[in-house]
Amino acid sequence: MPYLGVCGWPVAHSRSPAMQNAALAAVGLHDWRYLLLPLPLELFAETVRALPAAGFRGVNVTIPHKETALALAGTASVAAREIGAANTLTFEEDGAIAADNTDWTGLLEVLPEPAGKTALVLGAGGAARASAYALREAGAADVAVWNRTPERAETLAAALGVRAVRRPGTAQIVVNCTSVGLADQGATFKALPLQADSLDAGSCVVDMVYRDGDTELLEAARTRGATVIDGLEVLVAQGAASFERWTGRAAPRQAMREAVRTIAST
Ligand code: NAP
Repeated sequence: MPYLGVCGWPVAHSRSPAMQNAALAAVGLHDWRYLLLPLPLELFAETVRALPAAGFRGVNVTIPHKETALALAGTASVAAREIGAANTLTFEEDGAIAADNTDWTGLLEVLPEPAGKTALVLGAGGAARASAYALREAGAADVAVWNRTPERAETLAAALGVRAVRRPGTAQIVVNCTSVGLADQGATFKALPLQADSLDAGSCVVDMVYRDGDTELLEAARTRGATVIDGLEVLVAQGAASFERWTGRAAPRQAMREAVRTIAST
C-alpha cells in the first residue's frame, strides 16, 4: 500500500489527512493512505530517511521542519532553495529525496492577477518568505514586508530582493502571514499595522491563517468591500500541487475543498 503523510510537531490539528485522503478516494487511488506523522525535531531527519523503505511516496512538511526538510533532500527546486524551506518531499524510485515548495504556487493559484500591483506581506516566517517570493515572481510592482520583529523582515527582504518597511502604507494586495488570527492565539488583527484604507474595495486581502469562519482581518476587509481569500483556499491549492507531484494525477480540488471545509464546520 503506498503511503503519503504530513510531518510536523505539533501536527494533530492538520487538515491535510482529511483533504488528501478525500483526494485519493476521488481519483480512485483506493489503496493509498495519507497519514499524520507527529515528529519532534530530533527524530525528523532519521525518520524521514526511513520512510521510503516503509512504502512512503512523499510527505508534506510543516512547522518546525520546513528548513530541515530542505537541508536533508538530495535535490531541491529553485523556488524551495530561494525560499529556504520545503513543504513537500518526494521519494523518487532511485531512493533520492526531492524537495519542493508548493506554498508559493498555492498562493499564486488563488490570487487574482498580482502582476503590476502593489503588495504588502505581514510576517517574516516561512509563509511570508513563500508569499514574498510568489509576489516577486508573479511581477508585483512593489513587495513590502512588515514584521513585528523588524530585523527578520530586513533579512527576508535582503534575501529575496523585496523591501522591508517599518510603517506600511496602502497596498492593492495584503497577505497576512503572521499567526495573528489563530483562534487560540489571543492577539487580534489590531496587532497588525494596517490602515483602514489598506482594506478598501479594490484591494485583495489574503489571510494565510485558517480556522472555522472568517478571521477578524477578513471580516474587516469584507465589510469594507475588499476581495477576501481565506487560508483554507491556499491550503487546498498547495495541497493540490503536492498531490499532483506525488501521484501524477490532476488534483480533485473541489473534493479537497469540501473535505477541509467540512472539518471546519464540525
Ligand atoms: P512562523 O514561521 O512561526 O512565523 C510566524 C509569524 O507571525 C512571525 O512573523 C511572527 O513575528 C508573527 N507573529 C506571531 N505572533 C504575532 C503577534 N502577536 N503580532 C504580530 N506578529 C506576530 O509561521 P509560518 O509558518 O510563517 O506560518 C504563519 C501562519 O500562516 C500560521 O498561522 C500558519 O498556520 C499559516 N500558514 C497557512 C498556510 C496555508 O496553506 N493556508 C501555509 C503556511 C502557513 P515575529 O518574527 O516578530 O515573531
